Amino acid sequence: MTHHTEQAHSWVNGNPWQSKQQLTVINPATELPIATVSMADHTATEQALKAAQACFDTLKQRTSQQRAAVLERWYQLILGNEAALAELMCKEQGKPLKEAVAEVRYAAGFVQWFAEEARRAYGEVIPSHSPGHQLMTIKQPVGVVLGITPWNFPLAMITRKVAPAYAAGCPFILKPSEETPLSAIALAKLALEAGFESAAFQVLVTDDAKALVAPLLASPVVRKLTFTGSTAVGKKLLALSADTVKRTSMELGGNAPFIVFSSADVREAVAGLMVAKFRNGGQTCVAANRVFVHRDVHDAFIAALIDKVAQLVVGDGLASGTDIGPLINRKAKEKALQLVEDALARGAKQVYRGTPCVGHFMAPTVLQGVTEEMDIYHQEIFAPVVSIIAFSDEHSVVRQANSVNDGLAAYFYSQDVAQIHRVSLALEYGMVGVNEGAISNPVAPFGGVKQSGLGREGAKEGLQEFLESKYLCQKF
Ligand code: ADP
Repeated sequence: MTHHTEQAHSWVNGNPWQSKQQLTVINPATELPIATVSMADHTATEQALKAAQACFDTLKQRTSQQRAAVLERWYQLILGNEAALAELMCKEQGKPLKEAVAEVRYAAGFVQWFAEEARRAYGEVIPSHSPGHQLMTIKQPVGVVLGITPWNFPLAMITRKVAPAYAAGCPFILKPSEETPLSAIALAKLALEAGFESAAFQVLVTDDAKALVAPLLASPVVRKLTFTGSTAVGKKLLALSADTVKRTSMELGGNAPFIVFSSADVREAVAGLMVAKFRNGGQTCVAANRVFVHRDVHDAFIAALIDKVAQLVVGDGLASGTDIGPLINRKAKEKALQLVEDALARGAKQVYRGTPCVGHFMAPTVLQGVTEEMDIYHQEIFAPVVSIIAFSDEHSVVRQANSVNDGLAAYFYSQDVAQIHRVSLALEYGMVGVNEGAISNPVAPFGGVKQSGLGREGAKEGLQEFLESKYLCQKF
């Protein structure tokens, strides 16, 4: 059988990189190849670095208004290509088309936001400590940036790094996920069309991330690393960044608690969980991983939840009506099945499971009676599996929610005003959804505490990640 496959390229200094080394991109729904991509090697990396360094000098000459105008055009081009980008993402990542369309808009939203924020890189005049001195700060771009991104949001995880970098005046070298390089390449082409300087956004595709990234992290030219991915890889990259003392922004794993208190509106809480759990088939770092439900509403909550979960349609993301696409690859499915097995073997009860699925597809599953002894409690499952834990008092559920090393997103449902305030303060998480299951957007700061990461993306904080403060002390 032959399949039509596209040829794509790594993108170095505004040009497609030609190479014999090819990466095959697989559609996780059909498990068939959809494209081959010429990979970047050591020579490509060196050229990209040199071009980025030269580009930094060019970018320094641009005003923030000029960079804002380029970003505004990029924003328009992304929106103008919404249908094609969404279909491409569906094919290489598997998410349902409706979610892919939403991601194109979400991704474009970061570009629009940072086009606006580009003009607001204000420094300060500081009231002086002594007569005859004027003190001030100015904001300057940090320099060449290396970005490493995951496959679960193939567009948005890139725009929310590249747009603020460009707004600040930093050239960007991207190493996208080997699972989803096509979306990254499509974005880079649109950026060039929008007026990005040829080395302001370069894309190095590889199936050997470790080998490609090592010299970039060792290089003093790269002044900043911005990473989204697993905590384990993030820790290694932090260690490798130490030698050249790079600035780092790290968006790492979560293990989000989702707490339903006794005063909660159960119907609203179920609706919130459907979003917080099943978006992208459960493959998000802010996905509800541990669902704590108060004993008073436990049974009613589970009944209402199963009602909704039973309506979810699993299938190819391109098919109309699909709610849950395939998992990204075989390893992801094996891991999820194994976590469910382990939970069942240790006493969890499977209260719902959809029809078992072939290939990389996985049936939505609901488990109750999950405990801290089970692996599923401690690991991100990244699959359409709900783990329910019953609780009876606020103090102990907050302690349980905080008992992990992760601190990215948390959610809780309550109608008790004093409890809302207490729990909002007590949760050791970077983001908290209060009676809300969908919290990510370009205007709000996204990021985690503890081992979930360093720094924030989006919002006004997102621009600061790419700026240095320079303090000027003038005697007069
Ligand atoms: P995920 O579970 O989302 O795939 P990973 O942390 O494995 O998370 O991958 C996120 C990104 O990090 C991907 O682009 C991947 O290629 C890259 N990556 C994985 N391992 C390494 C490594 N040792 N060095 C540099 N990059 C890596």
